[in-house]
Amino acid sequence: MAVTHIAGAGLAGLACAVTLAKAGRAAVLYESAAHAGGRCRSYFDAQLQRQIDNGNHLLLSGNKATMSYLDDIGARGTLTGPETAGFSFLDLRTGERWTLRPNRGVVPWWILSPKRRVPGTRPRDYLSGLKLARARPGATVHAVVGANGDLYERFWKPLAVAALNIAPEEGSARLLWSVLWRTFGRGAAGCRPLVARDGLSPSLIDPALDLLADHQVPVRFNSGLKGIELGEGGACALEFAQGRIELGAGDHLVLAVPPANARELVPELTVPEGSRTIVNAHVTLPAPASLPDGGTFLGLIGGTAEWLFLRGDMASLTISGADALAERPSGEIAKLVWADTARALGLEANEQPPIRIIKERRATFAQTPEQAARRPGTRTGWRNLFLAGDWTDTGLPATIEGAVQSGRAAARAVLAG
Ligand SMILES: Cc1cc2nc3c(=O)[nH]c(=O)nc-3n(C[C@H](O)[C@H](O)[C@H](O)COP(=O)(O)OP(=O)(O)OC[C@H]3O[C@@H](n4cnc5c(N)ncnc54)[C@H](O)[C@@H]3O)c2cc1C
Repeated sequence: MAVTHIAGAGLAGLACAVTLAKAGRAAVLYESAAHAGGRCRSYFDAQLQRQIDNGNHLLLSGNKATMSYLDDIGARGTLTGPETAGFSFLDLRTGERWTLRPNRGVVPWWILSPKRRVPGTRPRDYLSGLKLARARPGATVHAVVGANGDLYERFWKPLAVAALNIAPEEGSARLLWSVLWRTFGRGAAGCRPLVARDGLSPSLIDPALDLLADHQVPVRFNSGLKGIELGEGGACALEFAQGRIELGAGDHLVLAVPPANARELVPELTVPEGSRTIVNAHVTLPAPASLPDGGTFLGLIGGTAEWLFLRGDMASLTISGADALAERPSGEIAKLVWADTARALGLEANEQPPIRIIKERRATFAQTPEQAARRPGTRTGWRNLFLAGDWTDTGLPATIEGAVQSGRAAARAVLAG
């Protein structure tokens, strides 16, 4: 039987393998690390003595490919979130709190209600968002929406930084629109926030590995693809430290590795260059805490951290587009983040608990208009070589949804022959 060889067991590679396995196709997954999940996983942290995620990951109910992947692996029930769409914020400078509440249906009347929109903004301020729909490919978010006072500071900036992991002055307007359209554009039904209840691996990774094991799809860890022999219009052999694999006439190769690794393996590929950092802080609180609205996460304005997620006695904070911050020693970052945490949760600021700082320096590719234009599609110039990954041309920012969508697209290309 023809075999599909998939390099990379992040979400793109896993989604590809799961789709092929469910279609009854033979596949083998190779992963250079000793674990699956890539940039989206959980692990045991010796300092905190507990399982933590490499970083907070927020999903939205409008992430259709991800929901379908979770259905495939039987794990949709492991996500948790509020019954209705709502995003609570705290301005750390003024103490002001508000909740953004998109309404049901596609007509966004929530912007007409002062109780549902950002305080200090007027309905007509939001019309600047419509300009994103018509943004030129080279336009940045900032150039399109403009720095229009409170709406910029309290809506566009946090939204752009969270969705694109880059400052709005640099981030692609078109990519931001693609998220808005598929989530806020569908009303409350598309933008209910969801998180992995017990952690990223228990939701998104481990159930996929279980499904692959059930379908006899081998997953080979510590097996980085070192080289590809290309010839006669296709890939004909794969090189691993463990040995060489010849590809048969009907075999395929899916490269689901990060862009720099893909280019190293196939120098002819055009891929996005440069990356941006996300810093995460995991804070062990003296006791389980809660947020005033009973929710599990909170947007922070005017501090160092941008989002605070709560799980029992653990607060995890995210700072995106954090290349400059990541240059500072972890101890300094911990102090800054603790000040935000104490303020947000009403805790004693002088009693800083143990904090683990994680700097993910290649969290996403640099999502500027220039780099977005370098994203390749699923198919390549080689008939049996396909690409997957959040950096390929999914039309979406580099997110779980983009990664899963790309892996499923690569599987469909393989199935199409
Ligand atoms: C801190 C952080 C926070 C994030 N927050 C969010 C969020 O809130 N919401 C959201 O939707 N997304 C978020 N993301 C983005 C999301 O995690 C990624 O888009 C997604 O995980 C990318 O999956 P991938 O499979 O494309 O790539 P990767 O996860 O990078 O997987 C690629 C895999 O290939 C392996 N590999 C590399 N070279 C080789 C080789 N030669 N042979 C074999 N294997 C190889 C790597 O080890 C890796 O496992 C966040 C990312 C980070 C880092």
